[in-house]
Amino acid sequence: MSAAPSPPAEPGDPASQQVVNPATEEVIATVPHTTPEEVDAAVRGAAAAQRRWAALAPAERARQLRRFASAVDGARHDLAAIEVAEAGHPVAGATWEAENVRDLLDYAAGGVERLTGRQIPVAGGVNITFAEPLGVVTVIAPWNFPMPVAAWGVAPALAAGNAVLLKPAEATPLTALRLEVLAQASGLPEGLFQVLPGPGPVIGEALVDHPGVAKVVFTGSTAVGKRIMARCAAHVKRVTLELGGKSPNIVFADADLERAAAAAPASFLDNAGQDCCARSRILIQRSVHDRFLSLLEPAVRAVTVGDPADPATAMGPLISAAHRERVRSYVPEDSPAAIRGAVPEGPGFWYPPTVLEAHATDRRAAAEEIFGPVAVVTPFDDEEDAVRLANATDYGLAGSLWTRDAARALRVSRAVAAGNLSVNSHSSVRYSTPFGGFKQSGLGRELGPDALAAFTETKNVFLSTDDG
Ligand code: NAD
Repeated sequence: MSAAPSPPAEPGDPASQQVVNPATEEVIATVPHTTPEEVDAAVRGAAAAQRRWAALAPAERARQLRRFASAVDGARHDLAAIEVAEAGHPVAGATWEAENVRDLLDYAAGGVERLTGRQIPVAGGVNITFAEPLGVVTVIAPWNFPMPVAAWGVAPALAAGNAVLLKPAEATPLTALRLEVLAQASGLPEGLFQVLPGPGPVIGEALVDHPGVAKVVFTGSTAVGKRIMARCAAHVKRVTLELGGKSPNIVFADADLERAAAAAPASFLDNAGQDCCARSRILIQRSVHDRFLSLLEPAVRAVTVGDPADPATAMGPLISAAHRERVRSYVPEDSPAAIRGAVPEGPGFWYPPTVLEAHATDRRAAAEEIFGPVAVVTPFDDEEDAVRLANATDYGLAGSLWTRDAARALRVSRAVAAGNLSVNSHSSVRYSTPFGGFKQSGLGRELGPDALAAFTETKNVFLSTDDG
């Protein structure tokens, strides 16, 4: 189904959702909710489209996905402007996000004709495997990176021959709706990719529970992810989960401290810290603790917080007033901050870049995912202590370590229980490399060379060559 933004409805109308610009607090659109009946029709429409899609020649499927990628490329500045307005992302990052959707579609299109099975030697015949599409896949996306995270699921699922129903987060449905329009305009079959806005506990659960949905790809909080996994169990439904994080940034005494300090602010302030991979625990070897903090302070203060539409802005607002209250609850007003940045006056859900020291901080701030521009600094004694602290969490999504010792870099990378480690940088996500969490940060992997395989079932076929 297609749900276009309509004129503003009454505030609190249960049949629609208001989209608010977090930098101005203005309502920028009102989007009707999908109804449970429409969910059912959407699944049936998607199933019919999927059968035709999977029957197309692989080269044709790839061509159609490349046309979709070109349409996204042509609209990338519009998509970025929507992301700036609905999510408060600085425009440079928002443009990168739109380009990332384009690149994901192109990369996935390249996989369509490489989705090969295997021929396995057996007695008495020929044994071959097929990578069969699953059918209808649901992608449930969060509000923090609405466009790229949706595309991590949508692009490989379509490439592997599936139909996709995308449920965007309540706060950020507009880029998803625009992608649906672009998909249709680029010639993708009707019904193959549909966007279904609505509340998670209603429309999200209706999709998760629908017997016609073969797989759920969920990105969001660990609490909701656990609930979805339990509901998927009722149908033994396939599920990929990308959940929360509390990732460490480990700085050893032998590191290039200037580089490490210069890079640290972006690692927890990008997207105002609303990033599952935020390096929100800074672990510093005790012997360089004070020196590192003295280098970090000017770097944090230099981060420009303000109007996300201004290309010079590095950090925008938080997504909503409610979320800002949640972030604030981790940092009481009288909390002694080691570093606190500045924010603009006036409307907007601003929160300052903040660095706390573990010894002077509430334990919750050091242990829980704050999802805001707040990092907690903890000293460590040696390599063993660093690894112990890094792993003292139920999460395991990402992490960085800074050292000039290559052997230590590999030892520590292997010892930290997280899916995405980065040495002397904070890189986490590339469309061409696998991404996902250890422990309660998730289940399964997205992106990378195997992304399409997560949207297929292996079918084994034995063909007897006996002539009797
Ligand atoms: P959320 O869990 O509140 O919501 C995510 C999505 O799930 C939304 O679309 C929401 O409508 C839907 N939803 C909510 N309840 C549901 C239910 N009962 N059934 C089905 N769907 C439901 O998360 P959020 O606040 O939008 O996103 C922030 C969280 O996402 C953070 O914890 C962050 O770490 C995580 N995240 C993880 C990754 C990753 O790749 N690991 C990436 C981005 C965000």
